[in-house]
Amino acid sequence: MRPLQVVCSLGHVATTDELFQSGVSAREIRAAVQSGCIARAARGIYVCEHADAEQRQAGALHAQIACVSAAHRFGVWSGLDSALHLMRPADARGGGAITRPGMDSSGRALHFHGARPRFGNPGKSWVVDPIEAVWQAIHCLDEENAIACLESALHLKFLTVAQMRRLCLHAPARLQPGIREMENTSDSGLETITRRRLRHHGYTVVGQGRIGSGTNSIYEDLVVEDCVALEIDGRQWHGAAKLGSDYDRDLMVEGLGRRTLRLSYRHIMFDWQTTLATIERTVTDAQWVRNRHRGSPMRGQNEPWW
Ligand SMILES: [Zn+2]
Ligand SMILES: [Zn+2]
Repeated sequence: MRPLQVVCSLGHVATTDELFQSGVSAREIRAAVQSGCIARAARGIYVCEHADAEQRQAGALHAQIACVSAAHRFGVWSGLDSALHLMRPADARGGGAITRPGMDSSGRALHFHGARPRFGNPGKSWVVDPIEAVWQAIHCLDEENAIACLESALHLKFLTVAQMRRLCLHAPARLQPGIREMENTSDSGLETITRRRLRHHGYTVVGQGRIGSGTNSIYEDLVVEDCVALEIDGRQWHGAAKLGSDYDRDLMVEGLGRRTLRLSYRHIMFDWQTTLATIERTVTDAQWVRNRHRGSPMRGQNEPWW
């Protein structure tokens, strides 16, 4: 294979060793660099034009993309930290000559993990292995985001069930109560966070409740006190087909006498107190209406309120 093909096939970053192992000679590497097909990110590390800023930054520092930054690349919940998390053991190639800068050239913070892989899997030259990424992430994240990261990694099959069990067994003590409460019902980290916050608030919350049957059945993200459905708006859900199914869902939920609230990322992550107050009010109202219906079965729908 030619140098560019090898670099692309390995995720757009490759080391000299990886190129040699694929049968590329030193002369071919030099020619590819001279022609601009590939570029040298650092001594012994090459990138193609498809490599993104994180990959180039990691390569330049002889580091791997790690922790929440690695998880984020695969869609796994990774909290709100915008820093680029990298793994570079103290004795990594490049040695002590490479410092650990606090930020990259664009001003983005850099956070270094120096330890060797906990589970012994080296990963790719530019990104740590999935189990290492989640292991590092649950140590960098607060409890709420760490549990959301774990549920998200399981849901997305970023880790196998066996890997997840192994990881949870060794997880820090501060996470164990949350790990015991973990479910595999959440579509997203936002759903995990909302479900747990409301349960800790004292509500009964069911994840992925099914309404209807057969091909007409739909799932509600969360149902609070069996009377208010919460739909957590994944930002990827804006297609016409999805919109149609949203309308179907709203109609079926209303048909069950439930109220529906749609929550966005902002509502949950940046405006929770207002959102919680709205949920509380809606639940109280829905419970009142439900109890009124149950308590007065003889009242007709058209009966005047007085
Ligand atoms: Zn490429
Ligand atoms: Zn980290």
